[in-house]
Amino acid sequence: MEEGLPPLANPRNAAAGSLRIKDTTIVSKRNLEGFLYHVSFIAKQNENIADEVHSHSDMLKLLWELGFRSPQKEMKVLSGIENVIAFVNDFEKQRDDLPYEIDGMVIKVNNLELQDKLGMTSHHPRWAIAYKFKARQATSKLLSVEYQVGRTGAVTPVAKIQPVQVGGVMVSSISIHNEDYIKEKNLKIGDQILIERSGDVIPQIVKSLSDLRNGDELVIIFPTHCPVCDHILFKPEEEAVWRCTNINCKAQVVERMIHFVSKDAMDIKSFGEANVRKFFEMGLIKSIPDIYEFDVEKLSGIEGFGAKSISNLKLAIEASKLQPLHRIIYALGIRYVGETTAKALAQRVNDIFDFEKMSEDELKQMEDVGVKVAKSIFDFFKDSENILLLKKLDELGVKMRQEKQESKEGAFSGQTFLFTGTLAKLKRSDAESMVEEKGGKILSGVSSKLNFLITGEDAGSKLEKAKKIAGIKILSEEDFLQMLTL
Ligand SMILES: [Zn+2]
Repeated sequence: MEEGLPPLANPRNAAAGSLRIKDTTIVSKRNLEGFLYHVSFIAKQNENIADEVHSHSDMLKLLWELGFRSPQKEMKVLSGIENVIAFVNDFEKQRDDLPYEIDGMVIKVNNLELQDKLGMTSHHPRWAIAYKFKARQATSKLLSVEYQVGRTGAVTPVAKIQPVQVGGVMVSSISIHNEDYIKEKNLKIGDQILIERSGDVIPQIVKSLSDLRNGDELVIIFPTHCPVCDHILFKPEEEAVWRCTNINCKAQVVERMIHFVSKDAMDIKSFGEANVRKFFEMGLIKSIPDIYEFDVEKLSGIEGFGAKSISNLKLAIEASKLQPLHRIIYALGIRYVGETTAKALAQRVNDIFDFEKMSEDELKQMEDVGVKVAKSIFDFFKDSENILLLKKLDELGVKMRQEKQESKEGAFSGQTFLFTGTLAKLKRSDAESMVEEKGGKILSGVSSKLNFLITGEDAGSKLEKAKKIAGIKILSEEDFLQMLTL
C-alpha cells in the first residue's frame, strides 16, 4: 500500500501466489515470513544433533536453536486431551491479537517413535490432526441475484451483497449454487444474511435472518430462459442445475474457448480469458478452430497489442499445437473429464479418434472411468459436430496422436500389468511408469491377456473379475515393490 499498489486480497493467497512468481526479485519484495516445523532428514555427520531429536518438540527446539523461525513459542507439550482442548480454546481467544492470521491449530503426537508406529494413510499421517477454529462470520444484505452461464450451459445464480469484510477479505458476491439451494436457505432479495468464510474457503451464506424482514423483500424467481441467448432452460428431474441446451449459446461458446486456452488445458500463453472475450467481441474468433485460424496481425494498432505481444501470441498459439494428447482431451471440456481422467485416457490410446470406435463398456473398463464418465465420453465422440471439430483441429496441425512409445527391454518385458484400488506408497501414475520403465505393459482392463493385477485399498470389481480368470496373478502393493527390486 505504501507504494500505491492495491493491497493483496488475503494473506493465504498472497503467500501462495508469491511463491509461484518466477521472478525472485519480486518475491523478495513481498517480505514473506514462514514458520518451519519439520525436519525430514538429519545428516548423519552431525551425530550430536541427531541423538537429541526424539520428539516433535525437540525438532522445533532444534530448528529454533539453529536460527530458524519455528513455532517454538506457540507450541506446547501437553498430556491428556482435556489439557489440549483447554489450550486450543485459550489460543482461539487470542486469535485477533496475533500478528498473523490463523484458522486453527494442529495437534500432534509428540513422540517420534510413536509417530512412526502410527504411520500414514494414503492421505495423511495418523499422528496429526487439524482443529479448525470457528469460521469468521459477518452480516450483510442481499441486494440482487445475477445468473452466470458456464461452458456446459449450467446456469449459476450469484448473489450480489452489500460489500462486507469477512476474515480479512472484502466480499461482494457469493455463489448461491442453484434453485434448490435458494429454497433451502429461504433467501429473498432484500434479506439480511449471515455469511461465513473459513480458511481459504469460498464465502457461503449461512442463513437469511428472516426475523428482520419488513415485508419489502422480494422472492427470487429463477429464470425460465437463458439470460444470455434466451433459449429455454432444461433440468433433468434428478439434477439440481438448470442448463441452457443451446450449443451455440454465446456464453457457452466463449466459456469453452476460455477453458480451451487456459493454463491447465492447451496453455496458450497470453491468450487468456480477457483476450478471448475481446477477440470474440471483435468478431475475430467465433469457435475453437478460429483460435488457430484468425489473423493475429489484425491486432496491430489495437491498444495493448504491440509488435512484441503480437509475435508472442503467435508463437504461443503455434506452440500449443504440439501439446501432449492429454491436454487436448482435457481442453475439449468433456463433462466429468478433469485433468487426471484426461491423463489416464491419453495413456490408453495413440490417437484421439480411437475413442470414436470405443463402446461405453470398453470405456468403463478403463481405470478411473465410472459409468457417468464413460457415458459422457461416449456421447461426446458420438456427436458428429464434435468429430468435425476434432478433424478441423487436426487439419490445422493440432497434435491429435502420440508417438507410440517404444517399449523398453527389461525385467518385465512381455508381461502385462494393471493397478486397481488406492495404493498406499506409490502414486498410481508413478507405479505405471515403473512398469513401463522395466519393459512391462499397462492394460486398460481385466482380461485373459493380463498377467499381474496389483491391488491397493478398496479394490473393487476389477479384483473380483480377475479372481475368476486363471492365470492372473493378484499381488499386493508390497509384492509389487518386492518385484521391482528383483
Ligand atoms: Zn444460452
